[in-house]
Amino acid sequence: MHVDWSIVKAHPLMRRESLVDPDNRRHYVNLPHVIAMVGLPARGKTYIAKKLTRYLNWIGVVTRVFNVGEYRRQATEAYKNHSFFDPNNREALAIRSKCALDALEDMCQWLEQEGEVAVYDATNTTFERRKLIYDIVCEKFGFKLFFIESLCDDENIIEANLKEVKVKSPDYKNRDVEEALSDFMTRIEHYKKVYETLDEKNESKYSFMQIYNAGQKVFVHRHEGHIQSRIAYYLMNIHINPRSIYLTRHGESEFNALGKVGGDSELSERGWEYAKMLSKYIKEQKIPRLRVWTSLLQRTIQTSSAISAPQERWKALNEIDAGICEEMTYEEIKEKYPQEFAAREENKFKYRYPRGESYEDLVSRLEPVIMELERQENVLVVAHQAVLRCLLAYFLDKKSTEIPRIKVPLHTILKLTRAAYGCDIQEIRVPVDAVDDHQLL
Ligand code: ATP
Repeated sequence: MHVDWSIVKAHPLMRRESLVDPDNRRHYVNLPHVIAMVGLPARGKTYIAKKLTRYLNWIGVVTRVFNVGEYRRQATEAYKNHSFFDPNNREALAIRSKCALDALEDMCQWLEQEGEVAVYDATNTTFERRKLIYDIVCEKFGFKLFFIESLCDDENIIEANLKEVKVKSPDYKNRDVEEALSDFMTRIEHYKKVYETLDEKNESKYSFMQIYNAGQKVFVHRHEGHIQSRIAYYLMNIHINPRSIYLTRHGESEFNALGKVGGDSELSERGWEYAKMLSKYIKEQKIPRLRVWTSLLQRTIQTSSAISAPQERWKALNEIDAGICEEMTYEEIKEKYPQEFAAREENKFKYRYPRGESYEDLVSRLEPVIMELERQENVLVVAHQAVLRCLLAYFLDKKSTEIPRIKVPLHTILKLTRAAYGCDIQEIRVPVDAVDDHQLL
């Protein structure tokens, strides 16, 4: 989108002073950071922006998306048709420029106050537009800036995108699907007239990454610092092929039945019954190229023992280490270590068992598992309550403080499939009784 300079010059953002000396901030390596999306409509920018935000929040970096499309929907009356995006429509251009700046202003303010990484989700399709972002974000505020461009010429991917999300957009509420598809295609054509891809020669000073056809090829230019490296690495690993991830706890163990935490006990009789039912369910599903991952503990290995699929053991999937409280019941912990018990109740996410781990530690331990899950297709993970809470928080976008309370009952299979911008979850209860140990760990 070209820039309407009269709107830019008049916008309050241009008069705003940075709270911190930007020259000083330029010496910072990582934060605050702006990630600016680039690309034609229906190239997965919002998908990438949301997914990346979910990941960064999960690893503890405070991140938020600023979507210019939402500002536009608030600023204008009901969307009529593609002519709004015609580069010659001056009236619409003024509205679009204002919305882009309003979002930028809110974003910079948020970064000055509390944010660490902001994802600026807009098309940002011209050199001029990107220079404006650079001037404001880097020169005026001294923030770090990383552009992420999604390029796609695979008609199948684009068509699937249009059908999966675009025709369901609020812009086309109560509209005929064919009419919506045709309007959106014309909208894309308007953008193509002015589109300038990120260019290492013309825009050599920018740090950026380009993703071709949903990850078939990736190009990274002048990336700087830990955050950008981590983002580039993460985005190199994700894919959009259809697949499901199945999560389950091990069958009921002897320690579960006794109310004890941790340890490495074997399955109870009911646990073995669950193992049998689980393998029956998996067989019936006929899941192509399924892989099974377990921890190194006996109870997960026994639970998956009857499943015929390649199996892999991960130390990272072992249950949270309860340190000095291992193999004790909750009542024993409360009685023997009342202060520890109270401290844990106070902040269950950050609390670390003496000589053991916290949920926060567990999230760091599980990052390689998430990265590998992103790369894989169908996987069944047989693990433990605290571990699955952390994995679920990533897929379902839960706040860290919610993690220790997520319900993961025994003898239940959780099936995760990709939805438009997130994940759908299906809960399959297997009819074998087990203890309810939700409050433990
Ligand atoms: P707009 O500019 O209209 O907001 P957009 O570029 O933000 O469009 P999305 O709304 O994110 O597009 O499109 C979502 C679709 O993009 C999903 O169907 C998702 O599977 C797909 N998708 C995700 N990543 C990519 C990618 N790298 N390239 C192309 N499509 C992708």
